[in-house]
Amino acid sequence: MKTYRTLVLKYRVEKLPPEAAEKIAQLLKIQQEFRRWAEEWARSGGKTPEQRPLKYFANEFIHAARALEWLKDRVIKRGLRPPLVFDAQLRLDSERDVSRGVFVDVPRREVRIRKWGGGTIVLPLSRKNVEWIKERVEEGAALAFAMAWVGRSRRNGAVALYVALVFRREVKPIQPRRLLVVDFNALHNGVVYAVVEEGRVLRKGVLRPDVIKVLQLQQQIARLDAACAQREDDAICRQAAALKSRLWRLLRQWEDETAKKIVQLAMQYKASIIADVPDDNSIRQLKEGNYSAEKKAMLNFGRLRRRIRELAEWHGAPYREERLYSTVCPLCGGKMEEMPDRRVKCRCGFTAHRDEVPALWAVKRYKELLQTPSFSNLILAAVESI
Ligand SMILES: [Zn+2]
Repeated sequence: MKTYRTLVLKYRVEKLPPEAAEKIAQLLKIQQEFRRWAEEWARSGGKTPEQRPLKYFANEFIHAARALEWLKDRVIKRGLRPPLVFDAQLRLDSERDVSRGVFVDVPRREVRIRKWGGGTIVLPLSRKNVEWIKERVEEGAALAFAMAWVGRSRRNGAVALYVALVFRREVKPIQPRRLLVVDFNALHNGVVYAVVEEGRVLRKGVLRPDVIKVLQLQQQIARLDAACAQREDDAICRQAAALKSRLWRLLRQWEDETAKKIVQLAMQYKASIIADVPDDNSIRQLKEGNYSAEKKAMLNFGRLRRRIRELAEWHGAPYREERLYSTVCPLCGGKMEEMPDRRVKCRCGFTAHRDEVPALWAVKRYKELLQTPSFSNLILAAVESI
């Protein structure tokens, strides 16, 4: 099975030298032309363009995404805009440059973007990025292709050039012998996991961020935000922004570590991951319900879920999303009553901590859940995160 992992590099245009910024403005024009073509093409199934660089981008895109269905589905139905796709080469040592569209030069710590009709855009590659690339290569992956697009940062609205390096490797899918049930709660209740085999729960645990620290940061941020709005004091506003970045980094690091732990468990136990992800409705209820503002901010686990899915696929661990009950009795199927301490109680006498119930349902549905595990399609997932 071929699996993919994507490193997304982000370059804020205002921080790049003026020469590069100018070229990126030109690249944006090509991107707009390409998107117009893609939309047209998806609608009519018409011809690929004759002229470069659009011809190049059309061919690379089709090659990477096997694209017509994808375009019809995403571009027309959902309004997503495709990136520019490049063929790419990774230089680790002193390999000859074979003049592909994106050249990732590890010894020089540079990414070069070419073939788009406006010269070469040279971008730096951080030490961390180099480390990430070397880890993938050690795992047997190769750079398959690259994507680039100009867009606005979701976090701060700044215009940035994004470069996505897509690595691919062959992996043997795990033949699952157990289930790893992962229950996503509001983050202060943690991510609850349980390893389930036929008839029993083998191991269980909870992964949580440093909740006290998160709450402290959130309170400080709220205070500074209020002061910033009231006094319009630049120093205070900057302090608020700095703390927000710190909080964001803290949570992101926790998400990365948690995803790693979950997938390691899946490999260790040869387990198929069953992710119990609340649907939009229950998230809305949680957000509207009896939650303090601080706790609401901790309900954002979209990224964590994506990380787990991507890592699971990379390692050949089956991943599937499935709703498992936490308030329906696993013994008699009756609706259980919730008590204030997160325990649940059934009329039949069954009682447990709410977090333990999904794993008991997984024991009950073991055979069914173990069969036909599905893998997500990562190229599409990667493009989707644009
Ligand atoms: Zn019952």
